[in-house]
Amino acid sequence: MPSNLRIPGPTPLPPPVRQALARQMINHRGPEFRALIRRTAQRLAGILGTSGDVLLLTASGSGGLEAAIVNTFSPGQEIIVAACGAFGLRWAEIGRAYGLQVHLHQAEWGTPISPELVAQALKDHPRARAVLLTHNETSTGVLNDLQLLARTVKDAGKLFLVDAISSAGCVELQMDAWGLDLLVTGSQKGWMVPPGLAMVAAGASYWEAYRSARLPRFYLDLGKARDDQARGETPFTPAVNVLVALDVALDLIEAEGLAAVIARHRELRDVVRGEARRLGLRPLAADHHASPTVTPLHPPEGIQADELRRALRQEHGVEVAGGQGPLKGRIFRIGHLGWVHREELEQTMAALERTLKSVPGALR
Ligand SMILES: *Cc1c(COP(=O)(O)O)cnc(C)c1O
Repeated sequence: MPSNLRIPGPTPLPPPVRQALARQMINHRGPEFRALIRRTAQRLAGILGTSGDVLLLTASGSGGLEAAIVNTFSPGQEIIVAACGAFGLRWAEIGRAYGLQVHLHQAEWGTPISPELVAQALKDHPRARAVLLTHNETSTGVLNDLQLLARTVKDAGKLFLVDAISSAGCVELQMDAWGLDLLVTGSQKGWMVPPGLAMVAAGASYWEAYRSARLPRFYLDLGKARDDQARGETPFTPAVNVLVALDVALDLIEAEGLAAVIARHRELRDVVRGEARRLGLRPLAADHHASPTVTPLHPPEGIQADELRRALRQEHGVEVAGGQGPLKGRIFRIGHLGWVHREELEQTMAALERTLKSVPGALR
């Protein structure tokens, strides 16, 4: 059964994943689970391009971001947050909540973070320990050039912590080769499974920072997670069924081939942007840094974005996302990550066209 859920997470579940979710519960301290978590972590590491650890935490993506902060820093330390949208700001909010001195440098929403912005921030704040940013800014549909930004951060000898929640599994990531220290993703985005798991990948270079970090940590202690996971366990009761489902979803990614999955997401981006332009809908982000996983669009002149979303839901059962922060009510966002294919997205765009025709004055 295809899904009309076109939001950037949670995303539709493939049939084998839904079947896996219906399985009977297993002992999370038994041999079956031990094999499951080891196998899953190892396969995730391959997809993320790291020989380091991928730790599976039972939390939403933001729990993974919080884990990144509490395990890396000490009270009062300085960090640079480079943001180009609502999720970039979340890094700053978490840092401030834990008493860090956050130097927030923002790029205009809808544009990417430039290496120059990061280089200037590093020059302005030489005592900063780290640079934190978002790979794929889900609120604006901008994909930042991580490889380029990593070079700037590594040239300055700083730690580099990345929110790749809405890009991992759909977009190329070479964590070790690019020099990322820590990367966070979440189960309900590109991984085709329900919410419930934050995956935190820690490169070999990371653990030195962990050992000197003094912020309080308990549930989200990555060292504890690493030690337990090495034995095939987790410190606390994990979201067992989401892990079972993830194992099946990883089978699907392997069967399709990671390169094909990445190419499919690029194609989905091009389909949605091509159709949007044909309908006179202007994308928020320019082509050369457009996200392969989510596309925010301006509604036609005189049409309320949220009115359009309501009509799309009522007339066609298609769910798209609204704007966030200052973009609330001004744009709508089409999610196209995970279990989504060209035909389904073309149907989404056809439904959008019919909806626009039904709204007086919407289609010129
Ligand atoms: C969805 C998302 C988050 C938040 O994840 P939650 O699972 O809702 O906590 C953070 N960053 C990015 C880039 C996201 O797309």
